[in-house]
Amino acid sequence: MSLKVLLVEDEISIADNVRMALQQEGFALTHAKTVTEARLQMSREHYSVIILDVGLPDQTGFEFCRELRRHDQTPILFLTARASETDKIVGFELGGDDYLTKPFSPRELTLRVRALGQRGRIAASQNRLGLFHVDHDKYRISFDGKLLELSRYEFKLLELFIRRPGVVFSRHQLMQSLWDDPDMSLERTVDAHIKSLRAKLKEVRPDLSPIQTHRGLGYSLSESET
Ligand code: CA
Repeated sequence: MSLKVLLVEDEISIADNVRMALQQEGFALTHAKTVTEARLQMSREHYSVIILDVGLPDQTGFEFCRELRRHDQTPILFLTARASETDKIVGFELGGDDYLTKPFSPRELTLRVRALGQRGRIAASQNRLGLFHVDHDKYRISFDGKLLELSRYEFKLLELFIRRPGVVFSRHQLMQSLWDDPDMSLERTVDAHIKSLRAKLKEVRPDLSPIQTHRGLGYSLSESET
């Protein structure tokens, strides 16, 4: 399976260079030009490595990194333009994992991304929250040691909930993030998937109800019930 990399970079020429370098290595690259776009991509898809520019139009890469690290440990490689930026990263204030100063060599970039991806792979294979265990490589989730038989959307829903425990997602947000044709689908299809997901969790642990309904708001995964 190819390594999925998210590049957050507003300069098209740099993005093109990164794309060329990584595609030669067989990595799958998604490009976001802003932090807002990056957030959306990350709610849709799991990435093994994030390449993060510092100067971005809507927020700095530093701010985004700090925000991510509250709930997400995806390895981050910073692309920096100035030595002063590098100082911050080297100071480990931020939770970044590595950095490259522009201009960088494509060869060095791919080597560093590969190394981070391997580290992330180990982390992903140990990705757990309470009784949940997510295997991103095999698209499988087990609950209290039992492998769940999930449909594609059930997997996507549960994987998102586990990644963001306690966060309430509206039906609209869930459809926009996870569905292939969100505008062609009805929001009550989310309810149908949640219902069958709950039934599958109930089979494993009848005493727990990890997926909470928030009336008028949406759904969340309860941290105390996992
Ligand atoms: Ca920039």
